[in-house]
Amino acid sequence: KEKQLRESQKLEAIGSLAGGVAHEFNNLLQIIQSFNQFALDACKPLDPMRKDLESVAIAAKRASSLTRKLLGFSRQKNLQFGDLDVNQVVGEIIGLAEPLVGSRITMAHCLGAEKPTVHADATELQQVLLNCIINARDAMDGAGQLFISTDNAYLDDNYCRVDQNLSPGLFVCIYITDTGAGMSPEVQRRIFEPFYTTKQIGAGTGLGMAMAYGLIKQHKGHIDVDSEVGKGTTFKIYLPVQQADAFEQPESDGPQSNDRS
Ligand code: ADP
Repeated sequence: KEKQLRESQKLEAIGSLAGGVAHEFNNLLQIIQSFNQFALDACKPLDPMRKDLESVAIAAKRASSLTRKLLGFSRQKNLQFGDLDVNQVVGEIIGLAEPLVGSRITMAHCLGAEKPTVHADATELQQVLLNCIINARDAMDGAGQLFISTDNAYLDDNYCRVDQNLSPGLFVCIYITDTGAGMSPEVQRRIFEPFYTTKQIGAGTGLGMAMAYGLIKQHKGHIDVDSEVGKGTTFKIYLPVQQADAFEQPESDGPQSNDRS
């Protein structure tokens, strides 16, 4: 427990440090971007300097997207919780992700969760899913299969020992499976650490999975990974089923099952 506490204090410290730096950095970046834009506007179309200034603009844009992620990571999020149908949220994200993964990755899905209602922030949940999909795409190097599904699962006492904030009960599970490069046990152990990335400098921030982890925790859920090098990876996102849905009588029992007289 003490180790967990230290770990979360460390995360918090990294978060606020990163947030502070990102904020300052962002202000300076905006100055760089606006002066660069002035210079670009003053440049004739064929001026040899133009290409250099455009490169500055591209790099500054990238830096600004990185600082946005850092700010997002450190911000104490005020989540907009609502009752959501996970099948619907996942279905929407699949539609959005298609152009992102490209035509050499085939996508299939099976949204089979029968009790799909969760209490969650739709935008943040979609962000987590999108991050998993982008990671899957990157792990497949452009070609492979991406399978996304939903189901219900009962997490028992034994399973919930992985995390003190997890309570046994009925969960919705979202599975995201790719046929990509997979991960060694060492990488699997570290993927939720902030700033841990195996991608090239500039390509990855190492914040995506750390943010996903924190966010799913805020939903009293859990995120888990199965992976094998050379075969692929499955991310499993568990969210507790919203009470009313969880305790609804199964349909097959019929209305008379409520009448115990
Ligand atoms: P980033 O994508 O910026 O590197 P993430 O936190 O999203 O940061 O991911 C951290 C690391 O986890 C990645 O660099 C990669 O090594 C590994 N990873 C995440 N998803 C997958 C996946 N589907 N297949 C293989 N490796 C993955």
